[in-house]
Amino acid sequence: MEIPEFATDDGVERVLVVVAHPDDIDFGMAGSVATWSDAGIEVTYCLVTSGDAGGNDRTLARADMAVLREEEQTMAAKQVGVSDLRFLHYPDGRVEATLELRRDISRVIRQVQPQRVLSMSPERMWDRIYASHPDHLASGEATVAAVYPDSRNPFAHPELLADDDLEPWTVPQMWMPIRGGANTYVDITDNFDRKIAALLSHVSQIPDVERIEAMLREWAAGNAKMAGLPDGRYAELFRAVDTR
Ligand SMILES: [Zn+2]
Repeated sequence: MEIPEFATDDGVERVLVVVAHPDDIDFGMAGSVATWSDAGIEVTYCLVTSGDAGGNDRTLARADMAVLREEEQTMAAKQVGVSDLRFLHYPDGRVEATLELRRDISRVIRQVQPQRVLSMSPERMWDRIYASHPDHLASGEATVAAVYPDSRNPFAHPELLADDDLEPWTVPQMWMPIRGGANTYVDITDNFDRKIAALLSHVSQIPDVERIEAMLREWAAGNAKMAGLPDGRYAELFRAVDTR
């Protein structure tokens, strides 16, 4: 499949990435984030949960796990040039696309005023069930609803305007890491090592470093092939949606 490259020099100065858990960004999007921060684009991360249900260590209190995972995500962000992280502190494993979550994401959209929002897909992917954790689907759905119509509608979540003085903001484009149906890609070859370093910052979640690195390399090479790039290149694939 030949994928036409989406124009990325269309005035994008700020990108907001909204995901469910620490490490979600680093699996599917961190290579692109590194490319954008290198180009001077400001990238903000919004984490719906702090990953307190992650890992297999039953001796660690869940509140301590949340603190640890926020630290790991902050380290991972640093690897790809991101220092602005917003944690919404929803409980891991129990995320629903509620009006409250839509409002909280809309608040961040109005604060950041991004030209591009990245989120997880709200659609279940049957070929890779791990990508479709229920928290991913719910945070994806809430983000789509926050992009359209909530954050642009002055009468949606009126407390944002009344209490926080946050003017409506229209996000012109949304990108989601959907492999089947992808219509754009970012060549991450030059930043692949930084993506690995970002992912490996999630020490509490990665028992087998070599296996995960090999897996990411295989995925990224497969993505590059789908994008029509030559052998030896790595890519991240997205479904880009015009949300103007
Ligand atoms: Zn996740």
